[in-house]
Amino acid sequence: MDKQSRAYQYFYRQRWPSGFECPRCGYTGCYTIGTRRNPLYQCALCRHQTSLTAGTVMEKSRTSLDKWLAAVELLSSSYGVNAVQLSARIGVSHKTAWLMLRAFRRAIHRLEEERQFLGTVHAGLQVLGPYFFITHALYRRERVILIGGSMDNRTGKA
Ligand SMILES: [Zn+2]
Repeated sequence: MDKQSRAYQYFYRQRWPSGFECPRCGYTGCYTIGTRRNPLYQCALCRHQTSLTAGTVMEKSRTSLDKWLAAVELLSSSYGVNAVQLSARIGVSHKTAWLMLRAFRRAIHRLEEERQFLGTVHAGLQVLGPYFFITHALYRRERVILIGGSMDNRTGKA
């Protein structure tokens, strides 16, 4: 299995540990559309289409998933890295590294805001319900979680 597929599977397990779940209605049946590396999943009940990266820090990023995974692993195992270090360690341009770090910071910020609403956060790989796509990494001093608030629209559901 190549790096890309391995990274895809890793993130898939993070997002849907029990298999696909529609971010809109919660149904677990879906059709897969397309055979590209990041296929669309269409809910068999409400027909909502989503992808593994939709609503995560990786959405619309041109950076490959294996680079994202490398960044997650680096962040998880260190007290923090800057763009220069990230760039050198995972082999992306300085600009890309900077954009990745900014995306992580934004996700953390969003998580913080959500936390104020929800009151509790369960640290770990599964945080804040199914519409958050969380993996472990450095999270300030607490060294918990983080990464990618997912933003498939679920207004009114916490
Ligand atoms: Zn659905």
